Amino acid sequence: MSELKNVLTIGRYFRNKFGEKIYKVPVSISGFTCPNIDGTVAKGGCSFCENDSFSPNLQERKPKFKLNPKISENPFLDKQLAQLQMQFEATKQRLQNKFGAKKFIVYFQSFTNTYAPFPTLKALYEKALSFDNVIGLSIGTRTDCVTDEILDYLVGLSRDKEIWVEYGIQSFYDETLEKINRGDTASNMEYWIKRSKEKGLNVCGHLIYGLPGENQEMMLETFKKTVALNVDSIKFHPLYVVKNTLLTNEYRKGRFEPISEELYIDTVVKSIVNLPSNISVQRITAGIDDNTLLSPQWCRNKHQQIKNIRLALEKEGFNY
Ligand code: SF4
Repeated sequence: MSELKNVLTIGRYFRNKFGEKIYKVPVSISGFTCPNIDGTVAKGGCSFCENDSFSPNLQERKPKFKLNPKISENPFLDKQLAQLQMQFEATKQRLQNKFGAKKFIVYFQSFTNTYAPFPTLKALYEKALSFDNVIGLSIGTRTDCVTDEILDYLVGLSRDKEIWVEYGIQSFYDETLEKINRGDTASNMEYWIKRSKEKGLNVCGHLIYGLPGENQEMMLETFKKTVALNVDSIKFHPLYVVKNTLLTNEYRKGRFEPISEELYIDTVVKSIVNLPSNISVQRITAGIDDNTLLSPQWCRNKHQQIKNIRLALEKEGFNY
């Protein structure tokens, strides 16, 4: 059997670039929300998003304030900075104990992490970069929540740090974006992804396979458009239904059928075998093993999914 070709995973990308393993440390700062939840663009959020519009538990934990880029005062900034430090230190300690981790990227993961007053963003990003052994940031956001001011500032940081912007794309079909209440358009996504790339930032695009009404041809078309935008990395997710979301109602009424594991694997494999060798892969699937998952059940076991995708890729001559 001929030798397998290595997929450029983000782990391999970082090892090639920095000569060692880099660990992402996810943080979730209270007060951050999303214009698709707070009513600026829409209410309720994306149909698959678990947020406090639907969840009584989350409503109880709802912070007393929500950040908004238009309101510059932020009386909770000190608390947020302390929370950032606490979360980072706790995860760093765990990664050091378990894996001997040495270098880290702070990943602003939950909600929309550029949707806040600019001074708040600067304070949080710079605090994260000040922690020992942090080599960079990864910032999860939407393309309707970046500005030239924010991108230019990130370009400045990227002169001596590893800075990534992670955009949720999900689909490049406007009819799908409407169905999932995404509150953003394909043309706006294209515009800001191109702009981020022109400015020289590292961009990761998140894609979801199995969105309502999408067949494999559509999923692969979104993948092709993402690649054509010259992104640096891609994350692939299957769409699964969790409780307390807009999608729950659609699913319970029989109006949404989740993607099968076979179709998901086939679509991910077809994507990866056609991925240009300079684009890395940060994630090939996602899952959740708790009682919030309604369907599909195959999304419960992420390790088994990864194993199955690995095997399918091996058959195509690729090593993930
Ligand atoms: S953009 Fe993200 S945070 Fe906002 S509603 Fe959609 S999934 Fe939720």
